[in-house]
Amino acid sequence: MSVNIGLYISASILCISCIIYRYLRRYRKTVERRVLSLLLWNVTATAVLDLVKNVTASLDPVQWSTFNYIDTFLFFLLHSMLPPLFTYYILLLNGVAKNKTLKYRVCFFTPFIITEAFVLLTPLFDIIYYYDENGVYHRGNGVYVAYISAVLYMFIAVGTVIKTGKILRNRYMKGYELYFTVVVAGMVIQAIWPNIKVEAFTDIVGLLGIMLTVDCNEGLIDEYTGLPNKASFEINAGLYLLHKYKCSMISMRFQNLKTFKNIFIAGHGDRVGMKLFSEIQSVTEGCEIYKYDEKTLVILVFEGLDKDRIAKDIEGIVEKTITLGEFNINLRTIISVASIPEDVDSIEGIERMAEYEPQSINKQVTILEGDSLDYIKREDIVEEAVYRAIVDKSFEVYYQPIWEKESGKIISCEALCRLNDSKLGFVPPSEFIPISEKNGNIIAIGDIVFEKVCRDIVELDFEGIGIECVEVNLSLYQLLARKLTERYKEFLNKYGIPTRMINLEITETAASFESADFGKTLEELMEMGFSLSLDDYGTAYSNIENVLTVNYKNIKIDSKILWDSDSNVNFRNLLGSTIASFRKMGNNIIQEGVETKEQLDFVTEAGANLIQGYYFSKPLRRDEFVKFVKKFNNV
Ligand code: C2E
Ligand code: MG
Ligand code: MG
Repeated sequence: MSVNIGLYISASILCISCIIYRYLRRYRKTVERRVLSLLLWNVTATAVLDLVKNVTASLDPVQWSTFNYIDTFLFFLLHSMLPPLFTYYILLLNGVAKNKTLKYRVCFFTPFIITEAFVLLTPLFDIIYYYDENGVYHRGNGVYVAYISAVLYMFIAVGTVIKTGKILRNRYMKGYELYFTVVVAGMVIQAIWPNIKVEAFTDIVGLLGIMLTVDCNEGLIDEYTGLPNKASFEINAGLYLLHKYKCSMISMRFQNLKTFKNIFIAGHGDRVGMKLFSEIQSVTEGCEIYKYDEKTLVILVFEGLDKDRIAKDIEGIVEKTITLGEFNINLRTIISVASIPEDVDSIEGIERMAEYEPQSINKQVTILEGDSLDYIKREDIVEEAVYRAIVDKSFEVYYQPIWEKESGKIISCEALCRLNDSKLGFVPPSEFIPISEKNGNIIAIGDIVFEKVCRDIVELDFEGIGIECVEVNLSLYQLLARKLTERYKEFLNKYGIPTRMINLEITETAASFESADFGKTLEELMEMGFSLSLDDYGTAYSNIENVLTVNYKNIKIDSKILWDSDSNVNFRNLLGSTIASFRKMGNNIIQEGVETKEQLDFVTEAGANLIQGYYFSKPLRRDEFVKFVKKFNNV
């Protein structure tokens, strides 16, 4: 008996502590939170009622029998609420209870209503319990209805926990299932052994666990705006997709918001964001609004709300000039409006849509909907094509000749990967390489290209036709993957190729990436004897420190600077002096994208000693390349 009283006292203290803690935290109110509060109050009340009854029953049962009768009555009245409330809380977390009709709610609560009716009728018909003349408590047959109702609710909860486990079992909600199990275990124990009064205690331990893992929303809220963040969005969107809810998604990407934040003194820039968020919140009542990232808001609009009206209102808001002090701010915004699941049906697609920024837009507000959302699915289709090409190793390697000014001959070439898919036709590398970098397929592609290059160097006798080395592109992601050097060694050995025949091209963005693994791999490659070329110089940060510290054999200057030089004298001067400086430092300059005689003359006069571009040739199939080089080099 004293153990039971101890359990009740502990449970009551824990409950009250939880309630005070949550009050002090002043959480944002949500339906889930309200239900959890009800649960906490309910467990507190039932634990106290049980505690009092246990104490009085141990004194003089006959004298206290009326008091105990009322206490038990209140206890049942409240206790029967626990299973439905707890299950409802789980359904809210799981997204199952989202946007359900009144009919659903009535059905859901029917077993509870029946149980409550039985409790209310108990004083008349002894349905749930009764006290005998000695003041001893007895269960009535009707109590089994309450048990069946509780079991039913638990089954519903367990079912949804299993269904959504994969989504909710993520790093933000670890432990959620454990605490759920604690609650269920307590109920089961007390139902089987009614004398072990453990339920109130396990209830509150479970609720405390849920409070600390789920309810606290750790990592799920944007500190500044108080809005749910990307992680929260991904959990909820994942659940809604799983439950096949129909809804719409409106995403807003403020392309230049960050620029404004950066130029303003602290606080000012953030006010631009806050002003916007509050205006947008005012036209999106009933929707779920998330702060996806620093420049993106995402809104989920559920059935019954007018998404077109909401999109129009948002457009009206972002179109307006925001005045802040002496600044007039016009945000460049991309608004995407999609129906789920018609336009987008996966979490990856949703992310793609939120993060999409079409190139070269010059309007202040761009609306993307309908056909302009095709790119979302395109990425999946391309991904499948890449996968097919990896499986049948059907990527082709084309070679683009590189001409040397001094000898007037083609002395090297760049290996460029080509994907010609049976369904999609030709897919350009500018499309499939970034996609493959995102999902890791680039590693397999890189290996296929490297092996094919090794094979071609031997099979087509590149050295014999005057090709001294082949430039092979190496992505940052390949460099970060383990065992790159081992695999390269294997391919080189298989075909008996010396490393001097291959120059590895890395881009500026990759070269300035700081990672210990990456630096180590780069060193290992250089120790193996590979030379490095810096690709696309001038497109990214143009980090001169990087150029000076790594010993690049070739600097490849990006085509864009050359093309801009045609019309802009500043670019022309910059290009000329860049080439001259690098040449002075002893680097070779490969100028990419040379298409005309004028361009050729300009860059060679500035000092570029190697030229790659359509002026000499486009990238060619391996047999055509050999034919071309033989003819050009007079072999
Ligand atoms: P990149 O490495 O800078 O390759 C040069 C790109 O410029 C090639 O495009 C080439 O066809 C194009 N190009 C060369 N000269 C001219 C010209 O005179 N005019 C024009 N308009 N274009 C010219 P491509 O083959 O479409 O490749 C695009 C990018 O895809 C490459 O840029 C490279 O970053 C990537 N890529 C291609 N193959 C591979 C590969 O095997 N592995 C990796 N990691 N990336 C690759
Ligand atoms: Mg390249
Ligand atoms: Mg390049």
